[in-house]
Order: sequence, then C-alpha cells, then structure tokens
Amino acid sequence: MTGYLLRAALVYCLLAAAIGIGTTANAQTLALVGGKAYASPDAVPLDDAVIVTTNGVITAIGSRNEVQIPSDAKVIDCTGKTVVAGFWNSHVHFTQAVWKNAGSAPAAPLQEHMREMLTRWGFTTVWDVGSDPSDTLPLRRRINSGEVLGPDIHTAGSIFPRGGHPAYLPPEMQLPEAATPDEAAQMTRGYLRAGLDGIKLFTGSYKGEDKPVVNMDVAVAKAAVDIAHAQGKPVFAHPQNTAGVEAVIAAGVDVMAHTVARQPGYPPEQLARFKQQGIALTPTLSLFAKLPLPPEIVARIVDNIVGQLKSFSESGGTVLFGTDVGYIQLYDTTLEYELMHRALSERQILASLTTNPAQYFKAAKKGRVEKGFDADVVVLDGDPVADVKNLARVAYTIRAGKVIYQKL
Ligand SMILES: [Zn+2]
Repeated sequence: MTGYLLRAALVYCLLAAAIGIGTTANAQTLALVGGKAYASPDAVPLDDAVIVTTNGVITAIGSRNEVQIPSDAKVIDCTGKTVVAGFWNSHVHFTQAVWKNAGSAPAAPLQEHMREMLTRWGFTTVWDVGSDPSDTLPLRRRINSGEVLGPDIHTAGSIFPRGGHPAYLPPEMQLPEAATPDEAAQMTRGYLRAGLDGIKLFTGSYKGEDKPVVNMDVAVAKAAVDIAHAQGKPVFAHPQNTAGVEAVIAAGVDVMAHTVARQPGYPPEQLARFKQQGIALTPTLSLFAKLPLPPEIVARIVDNIVGQLKSFSESGGTVLFGTDVGYIQLYDTTLEYELMHRALSERQILASLTTNPAQYFKAAKKGRVEKGFDADVVVLDGDPVADVKNLARVAYTIRAGKVIYQKL
C-alpha cells in the first residue's frame, strides 16, 4: 500500500469512528439457523427455527421451510442451541477502577471488561443503579456509537439519607446525602437534567455490624419519587431493614434493589402492598450467598431470602433479574440462577430476564423474539427450560442485530 493510500485509509478509519460507521444502525443482516427458539418464556419452543434480523430489528421468525434466508445474510449455525430474547440485568454498577475516565480511556480494556462482566452472560440491557455519571454517561455514548461493544445502559443517580454513608463504601468517597425533602428534590432534578434515567434511594443504609441502620425519612424519599414520577422515571431503593421496606411502600418507590437479609420473610401486609402498588424486586441472592460470614449463618440468610423471593412471586409481584454485579466480583450468573430456581420455575426465571423488565420499564419492542421486535437475542448452548444453568452457557449475545459477544 502506498503512503497516500495508507493515509487515506487512516483518515477513513478516523472518519468512520467519528461518525459512527459500523454502529448498530448499520448492523448487517443476520440469520440464526437451526436452533430451538423460545419467542417468549411461556411459548411452545419452535424447533429448527430460522430468525432473520435486518437493521437491528427481527424481520422474520419461523421454521426452516417457512422463512427464506436472505442471500446477503451472515448465517449463524444454531444447531443444538437455543435462542431466547436478550437478557436484562436490572441491578449492576459501573464503579470499578476500569471505568474511571471512561470518556477518554482506550476502548480495548473497556470492552474486555464489559465482556467479562456482562456481554458473555447474555446481557443486552442493564440498569446501573449507582455510579459516577461522569464515567457512565460517556461510557454509554461510546457503546451506542459502536466504538465499544456493550449493552444498552440505563443509569440511576443515588441519594443517601443524612449520615447514611454505607460502611462498605470508602469513607473518603463523596456521596450525595439529602437531609430534607427540598434537597432530595433538587438532587433528583439535577440527575434527570443531566440525562440519567432514574433515581436510587438508600431508604436504609448499612453502617456496620455494631451500628444501627440509618433510614431515610419518608418525606425525603417521597420528594424524590414525586419528581421522578412526574418525568416518567423509575425509582429504585436499597431497603436494608424493615423500616427501609416500609419507606419504600410509603414513598411509592418502584423497585426494591435487594431482598432483605435481616427481616424474616415478608409479612402478608407488605406482600399485599407490593402487589397493590406494583413494586418490583431484584433478588440479588448470590450477593448474600457470598457474604464473608460463617457458612451456617449464610445458609440461614439464603433460606430466608429465597423464601422472600418465593412469597413475593407467589403473591403476584414482578421479579426483575439483578445481581449487583460491579459491586460484587462474581460475574458468572450460574449461582444466581440456581438460587432463584429454589423459588421460581425455569420459565419464571427467563421472564425475569426478558419479558418482565421489558414490560416493567415500558420497552415495548424488547423482551421477545418476534417479528418487529428489537434484534436483542441470546444464543445458548442448551435449553434453559431443561436445565436452568443453561441460562449461563452463552454462545452469542446479539444487541440490535450486532454480535456483541461470541464464545471462542
Ligand atoms: Zn447495588
């Protein structure tokens, strides 16, 4: 190649990066051929399926003799594999050191970590419920431009109660504490103005084993909820204890970000309010299963929170899959699926990853493998209805018709 051509190629690459050539908007036509497909968690699976995606949208799904494979399609052989909708993790954090200065950091380590933490486990959409927006917003921008392969990121801004700096966060870390309803309202407006998608309240904040939990006043929580809801944005809460759960209910919070290890079960009155108010739950069971405590205490805590998940689901509550990954370093989702399976069926767990969050967060074109839906798809090495652990055996993760993870 001559010097001129080299320079021209370089200019083209820079230009392509600048204007976003090769982004999801230009995703090629894909044909996923020969797998078993679940259009939704409660559907009868379709064997020997063909799924075609064009320009980021599913344009056909049917059996091999019903669907014509376009001649320009990149064919992915799914023989022996199972195709389901792209997964949501509704409780993650982009707080690890690797995300620092995500706006200017080299793309390769960002993408590498994104793969280890999220895309290799099938996640095409995530809710980040607490991070530094000056890292997360540029990270999202670089993913959406196609520069870094990653999921669709929604991000929530955190608000702590006064004196509620949690024991597990570095003491020097500056945290937004709201002492009054006015302060909470102001913080909420600021977050939403900056382009964040929701709010995360610490209605109960853990101060250490020998110290009482600091709870947020209901009036403070409600001020944030009212502003967020007026703008159509959801509110998550870290409840920590019974008073924290009661504040969730009284303030009208949408999603409980954890089960509550310290409260035995959910009493019937709480379960009725969850149902009545449409409160959702991300269980984060493996977070508690990995607590550095004696095994018999951990086993008791896990029995308790599995029981909470079971009663929550049986009373009609919406379960949203969520692990707190990024805060915890356990990236493999197998343990979470196994623990959830003590309370829920395989199909209910698949719903917590797909249709439940799509419906709850009003993403009308996500959560199903159907014509006209976003081409967010996971190809699994086995049928998750036969064995729930197959949900963690991901062969391909496809977001908006573009392969963002492929098992080597
Ligand atoms: Zn968390």
